[in-house]
Amino acid sequence: MLKYVKESDPELYELTMEEADRQEHNIEMIASESTVPPEVMEMAGSIWTNKTLEGYPGARFQAGSEVADKLETLANERACRLFKADHVNIQPYSGTTANYVVYASVLDPGDRVLAMRLDQGGHLSHGSKANWMSKQYDFQHYGVDPATGLIDYEALEKQAQEFRPKLLLAGASSYPRLIDYEKIGQIAKDVGAYSMVDMAHVAGLVAAGLIPSPIPYVDFVSSSTTKTLCSARAGMVFCKAEYAKKLDHGVFPGSLGSMHLTTMAAKCWSFKYAASDEFKEIMQRVLTNSKYMCGELKAHGFDLVCGTSDNHLIVVDLRSKGVTGKQMQTALDKAGITVSKQQIPDDPESPMVTSGIRIGLTSTAQRGLKEPEIKRIVELIDRVAADPENEENLAAVKKDAMDIVKDHPLYPAGVLED
Ligand SMILES: *Cc1c(COP(=O)(O)O)cnc(C)c1O
Repeated sequence: MLKYVKESDPELYELTMEEADRQEHNIEMIASESTVPPEVMEMAGSIWTNKTLEGYPGARFQAGSEVADKLETLANERACRLFKADHVNIQPYSGTTANYVVYASVLDPGDRVLAMRLDQGGHLSHGSKANWMSKQYDFQHYGVDPATGLIDYEALEKQAQEFRPKLLLAGASSYPRLIDYEKIGQIAKDVGAYSMVDMAHVAGLVAAGLIPSPIPYVDFVSSSTTKTLCSARAGMVFCKAEYAKKLDHGVFPGSLGSMHLTTMAAKCWSFKYAASDEFKEIMQRVLTNSKYMCGELKAHGFDLVCGTSDNHLIVVDLRSKGVTGKQMQTALDKAGITVSKQQIPDDPESPMVTSGIRIGLTSTAQRGLKEPEIKRIVELIDRVAADPENEENLAAVKKDAMDIVKDHPLYPAGVLED
């Protein structure tokens, strides 16, 4: 796969193989990660990268676009069929840019937006103080009920009636339960706001038809195409037919430049693959493993935010174990298990330290790990939590972690070798 770089730049080749080795031998449990099929890598590195293209099929700014027109049309058709949507724009480069283009399509500077708070599960691009969107628009944020960890729809409705946003945004990076999209759409309608859901994390589960889709209920649905969709590092936005023109204009010329035909081709492949039984079985395995892991974690004395998980991610409140999220992330990384530290609702620790970790089940399901392996992983996590600073303990856990994945290769033989 890397024969030219191996020849011309051995240093970069070695680095890439080092990363391949890390991915192969670690237990990957970062909730935003997944492993792309080889076809996605083929397309993401293909000749489509040579073509500069702006505009839309049939209305391009550059010559030589006939073939690319067919690609974008095919990808759009597949995306709309897969997600049962009226319209899609797959030009956004990432989940973050997918959100920006929706804002660019329907908002003016200073407009009010109501979105989920970052420290309660939201995303930076939903108007966090640290993100430049907070300077463009007037964001207010809603949160979860501290007792249950669940979105408090009653409080949200009251807030929407008082704040009168132009856009109501739902969707999260670390919310382990289902979101009531119908309710979100209804609240927005009642206050005269546009409704939008960012399904970046759960798009694969939605595509597989295993959890409810936001698409029937809201005006705009943005997403990243990595995460559970297991596709290229890119984004997309769906909308109702009546907003198709607004959205396309907001993307180009509104906010983006030439599209990335490489990731568009990769997404095109994934939109077909995601309709297959093979993909559905993997997504079902993600959910089965996630529920099973919740039970195992609780049996080992771990507290879970929201009590359980209905999707691919679990948020663990580590306070009962006397360790912080940062400590646990570092210790687990040394022990061959990759997770991210995570703020829990009303976290007493700073965002850099945190009281929790977020665990994702996508990559391990893709590798074919099932209940027996998940059970062993929870035992390892518990061993790390019991003695997170003890290097000998971590080294022993790492050996066992590598043993769990050794018979479950990341890729079929021949994909990573050259
Ligand atoms: C990950 C995520 C994004 C950002 O996606 P990128 O592709 O990393 O830019 C946006 N929104 C939510 C809710 C996310 O979880």
